Amino acid sequence: PPVIRIRNLSKTYYRGGQAIHVLEGVDLDIDHSEFLALMGPSGSGKSTLLNLIAGIDKPSGGTIEIRGVNIANLNEAQLADWRASNVGFIFQFYNLMPVLTAFENVELPLLLTNLTRSQRKAHVQAALEMVKLGDRMDHYPNELSGGQQQRVAIARALVTDPTLIVADEPTGDLDRHTAEEVLDLLDQLQRDLGKTIIMVTHDPKAAARAGRMVHLEKGVLVPEVGIDD
Ligand code: ADP
Ligand code: ADP
Repeated sequence: PPVIRIRNLSKTYYRGGQAIHVLEGVDLDIDHSEFLALMGPSGSGKSTLLNLIAGIDKPSGGTIEIRGVNIANLNEAQLADWRASNVGFIFQFYNLMPVLTAFENVELPLLLTNLTRSQRKAHVQAALEMVKLGDRMDHYPNELSGGQQQRVAIARALVTDPTLIVADEPTGDLDRHTAEEVLDLLDQLQRDLGKTIIMVTHDPKAAARAGRMVHLEKGVLVPEVGIDD
């Protein structure tokens, strides 16, 4: 069965007494260990859909079943717990803490767990080695290139060993060559570690690296396009 099963999902914002229907009737199945690209014009609802799947926002209607749990039914505290153990986040502008080293940034999500200090250290080192930054652990973000900062962010997303990785325009701030390196890494997370990856992107070249792409148009999913590689 699919790891993520979305049915009749909707999201409506109210602003000044007016309803803004951002997502309507979205049905989507995502398989375990799938690398999915979510495309569509600016304002079509991509980030909103990603945020709903990642449990950082609540739907107005419909269901989001992830490994059998309908996260639409969880309260804020349950959702926060669920997120901490199930989802890794990657952002366009990395969102690293400037006053923390690469090591400390990657360690952050583990401070919420009951791992010991030495267990945390082992996990952080393994994650940074996976993204080939084992030799940069004591560097601060401003001592790293954009691509290296994004790799630190990927290590931070990985360190809790989540099933699901969500990435919102992960290559949006990178040049072509560096973007390809980041996409190689995402590909590796999917192939070697079996992660399910959902990536929002405007970039057709980035989307082509995914196993499947879906398009949103004005809050509605348009038929899927398969990709041959
Ligand atoms: P995309 O990621 O495709 O650019 P978004 O999901 O960010 O689209 O936004 C879709 C629409 O929802 C936009 O019109 C945006 O202005 C609106 N929107 C997003 N978040 C909010 C919010 N918190 N309150 C009101 N409107 C919002
Ligand atoms: P993107 O297009 O990359 O998704 P946006 O600037 O549309 O970025 O949205 C960034 C965040 O700001 C969204 O996740 C949403 O929560 C919030 N947001 C977007 N549009 C609005 C809006 N019209 N009113 C309030 N919040 C908004």
